Amino acid sequence: MNSAYHRRVPSVIELANATSKQLWGTSSALLVPVGSTEQHGPHLPLDTDTRIATAVARALADRLSGPSEPVWRVAPAIGYGASGEHESFDGTVSVGTAALELLLVEFGRSASRWASRLVFVNGHGGNVEALAAATALLRYEGRDAGWCSCSVPGADAHAGHTETSVLLHISPQDVRTGEWVPGNSAPLRELMPELRRGGVAAVSEVGVLGDPTTATAADGARIFADMVEGCLRGIERWAPDRNGMLT
Ligand SMILES: [Zn+2]
Repeated sequence: MNSAYHRRVPSVIELANATSKQLWGTSSALLVPVGSTEQHGPHLPLDTDTRIATAVARALADRLSGPSEPVWRVAPAIGYGASGEHESFDGTVSVGTAALELLLVEFGRSASRWASRLVFVNGHGGNVEALAAATALLRYEGRDAGWCSCSVPGADAHAGHTETSVLLHISPQDVRTGEWVPGNSAPLRELMPELRRGGVAAVSEVGVLGDPTTATAADGARIFADMVEGCLRGIERWAPDRNGMLT
């Protein structure tokens, strides 16, 4: 229990630990981790994306909190997303884009009754379509919402070097290094036609796109810091694009 993922930020920053009374009369802003429950190869847990999004959101709350308002809090994560491409692997639970979009819209409408600002912190690429549509609608309705991605340039696609390194940094005890195997490392744009037709299983039997065997905790610390910095820049600049994305 010594990793950043499990390290609890002060309880007032976690929405679930706050009392309603603590929120009265304060200007609150909310970071909402959005992840997935999907296969991540033989070596990473199903909630890998949710863990990454949660750890990034907590780091953001730490960085954004200061003496002035709003007070940034981290909401309980949305742990299911659009993961249809992984559904042939056991353990995957996908709610799909339409259901996720509706969930995000209703989440935003409800939370915006007391939160002045809302940021979805996304840990799964498959969620982007739902996030863009939901956030654009929330903004059109006059709600101050945006979203950012836990992504870095040059990342491999799925359960490879990038995600495995980040997990070695935030949840080392849950990375089964004895079971990791290289997956399909072809560029995603090359794999896309077959991926669309047959899902991840059609291009990688083990469910890995990239090479986890080169992952290190030190790389993970660097990648994680870049994810946090990328989101932080977007939040501080606060110039959502037409899809509500903070860049
Ligand atoms: Zn992932």
